[in-house]
Formats: sequence, C-alpha cells, structure tokens
Amino acid sequence: MRRGLWSALALSLVLTPLTVGAQDRTGEQAALREIYRELVEINTTDSVGDNTQAAEAMAARLLAAGFPAVDVQVLAPAPRKGNLVARFRGTGARKPLLLLAHLDVVEARREDWTTDPFTLVEKDGYFYGRGTSDDKAMAAIFVDTLIRLKREGFQPTRDIILALTADEELGSSSKYNGVRWLLANHRSLIEAELAINEGGGGEIRGGRHTVNRLQTGEKVPINFRLEVTNPGGHSSRPQKDNAIYQLAEGLVRLSGFEFPASLNETTRMYFERTASQHSGQLADDMRGAAKTPPDPAALARLSADTVYNSTLRTTCVATRLEAGHATNALPQTARATVNCRVLPGEKPEDVQATLVRVLASDKITVTVTGEFIASPPSPLNPDLMSRVERITTEMWPGALVIPSMSTGATDSRWLRNAGIQSYGVSGLFYARDSRAHGMDEHVSVSAFYEGQTFLYRLVKDLGSAQ
Ligand SMILES: [Zn+2]
Repeated sequence: MRRGLWSALALSLVLTPLTVGAQDRTGEQAALREIYRELVEINTTDSVGDNTQAAEAMAARLLAAGFPAVDVQVLAPAPRKGNLVARFRGTGARKPLLLLAHLDVVEARREDWTTDPFTLVEKDGYFYGRGTSDDKAMAAIFVDTLIRLKREGFQPTRDIILALTADEELGSSSKYNGVRWLLANHRSLIEAELAINEGGGGEIRGGRHTVNRLQTGEKVPINFRLEVTNPGGHSSRPQKDNAIYQLAEGLVRLSGFEFPASLNETTRMYFERTASQHSGQLADDMRGAAKTPPDPAALARLSADTVYNSTLRTTCVATRLEAGHATNALPQTARATVNCRVLPGEKPEDVQATLVRVLASDKITVTVTGEFIASPPSPLNPDLMSRVERITTEMWPGALVIPSMSTGATDSRWLRNAGIQSYGVSGLFYARDSRAHGMDEHVSVSAFYEGQTFLYRLVKDLGSAQ
C-alpha cells in the first residue's frame, strides 16, 4: 500500500512537467524554462542590476546538480559585476571547449514595454522579457545542457567550460567586461581550443528554416574626432576661414567616399551560399561578388543595399556634430564624431590615413577616441562546420549553414584577439526581429526549445570529439 502510494507519487512527479505551461512540455523543457525564468527575472542592467546575483544563482544550480565546488566559481572584479566560470571535467584527450554567454542586459523601462521586462511572460507563442534573446536564452541553455550531461553520466573527451559574464553590453568602455577581465586575470580558467558564443542565429522565411548562421568574424568599431579650431571673432565681420564651413566641406567629401570592397573567406562563402536563397540579378551578383577577383559591376549593385554594403567594406559615417559657442560669434571650434566599422584584418592607422586623405584639409585634425580592439576572424573550421551542418540538416532539413561576419561587435573579439578561436552559433531561429536592446524583446517559444536541442547536441558532439 505504502509502496503503491509512493510509486504513484513518483509517477505523478515524473508526469507533472509534461503539462506545465501553455502547451505540453517535456521535463527537459520545463527544467530549462525554470532556469530561463530565474535568469530573466534577476535584473542585470548596469544601472541597478546585479550580475553577481545571476552568476550565483546559476552556480547554485550547478552545485545542486553535483558539480564539485572547486569547479564552480563566481569571480567578481567589483560589486554587481560577477562572472560564473564552471568546468565539466573530461578525459583531457582534447583541449577544452568554452561555452560563453553574457549575463548583463541593456536597460529596460517598464513604461516603455507592454509587459514587465523583468518578468518572463509567455504570450502568443513568444517569451517576452529583457534578455530573452540577448543573451539569456543561450546562458540558460548552456546551464541546462551541463546539468543534463552531468545527470546522464556523460564523459567528455575534453573539459567543457562555461563562462557567464558581465558587461558585454557596455563595450570596451567598461573596466569590468567579464571576458576581458578573465583573460587578463584568470586566463587558465577559460583557456580553450574553441569557444561557442552569441553572434549566430537562424532565419525563418515563409515558415521555413532557411539559414543557420555560423559567425566567424566581426567588424570592429572605432571612433574618430574631427576638429577645426579658429580664433573666431565677431559674427558681424565674417572671415573666409570659418571652422564650421571647413569641417562641413570635409564631411561632404567624406559622404561621397566609399572604402574599397574587400572579401575574406567568410564573406565569400556567405555570398556564395546566400546566392542559392535568391534568384535573378541578386543571385547572380552574389555569385559575382564571391568570384576571385570579384566582378566590379556586381559589387557596385550589391553596395546599394545597406546590409551587403556593410558586409563588403569598412564604413565610416558622421554620427555627431557640435560647433560654435554663441549665436553672434564666429565659431572657435567645430567638431564631428565619425564612427567607423573596420573589416577584420584592417588596421586603424590605415583607416585614419584614409580619412585624412579624403577630408583633404589641413585644417581638420583627426584623432582616435577610445580603444581599438582588433578581432582577427576565426578560420572557417571544417570540423566544426561539418558538425553544425549535420545537426542542422537533421533538425531542419533544407536549412543551409552560412558562415557570417557580424557588422556589430560581440565578446568574441576579446577571445579572438587573445588567440582563442570563437564561433557564433545558437540554433535559435527568428522569423522576425527579436527587438534585442529595444522594447518587448522576445523569442519564439518553439524556437527556444529547438535551440535547446540544437546546442545540447552540438555541445555533446564537440564534447565527444576524438
Ligand atoms: Zn548580446
């Protein structure tokens, strides 16, 4: 009788997760949803949030799953800026695999949102909340994956390291960027043969999973200050040399300038493979761009599209302007900010020299502001490519794996700059913009659980590599 009761209870405990939430879920999905909910509901914004709290919450889950305390560390360079580093020990046959996700999120104001940004809300087939897409989906899936592999008694051939880090969203201006800080202070904890990070993702078009992106490189931002100074004077007696006009004339010259197109192995394969998703002139132009040497007419036509243009070349654009000090005074200063996105492999000093040449005025000084963190692209790794392709084809027949170069930056640049190959791939597919950084950030519920399956399989596959 007693035994019967306990078995019934045990059975109901096993079965309960199947009916959690709006739709039937497996136990694995319910377990992941709980990790995800906890992460989204811990505010990790820079203003009032606490990364350390999120890192500790995930550490507690790993400890509860049986990871030894020595392999689960929360390391914080400052209050609220903690990072989690955990290690799933393997046989050591291969160098470690690093799973990287950032815990911090962009600010979100309740009054701007339809839902509370710090409550995980499931509505109409989507998960809403700050970080649901960027980057707490991957963070939660990685934690869940390690717990599952541990429970299954999986014995990896290499250590699998998980790093959940702070201050990705603040860029290089933050002293507490987790990846940068770990590399500088605890490099041995995250030393790896390769890393998996954000920056990838998939596309759904017309209801079909079409493309699973594998990010291998990214453009690097750098800002320049352009400045013209002048003794100025009374505006009732204008002079020929006016700081505002001199700067403006230079900026007009810059507006007409294009850096030369330059393809690398990733962008070449990107155009080659993306061509098969299109037809007519566009498909022909993509194939023409992928040729060596590329077809100049094809490059010119592709450059009319802002996305393809930014993939083809370094870009520099004026983003801020300020000048003068009084309505009735000749300007003593005129300044502009020019924001450049530099192709991997190109040097900031060459970009600066090009700017000086194009501005063509010895009155305009050009200075770098902020820091330039080089991000040499990670090579197209055939072993990783074939694993990603196999799992992609099994899960979404017909979907293509396309290597990509991001035009924005991720924390992969710190790893690449330090010589650790880093790849952006998530298996998280989007049919529409996730509004990452914006209001009502969201992820499709089904895509989220497919991402769970994809990353679990990829990590297990890479973790079994001989
Ligand atoms: Zn992110």
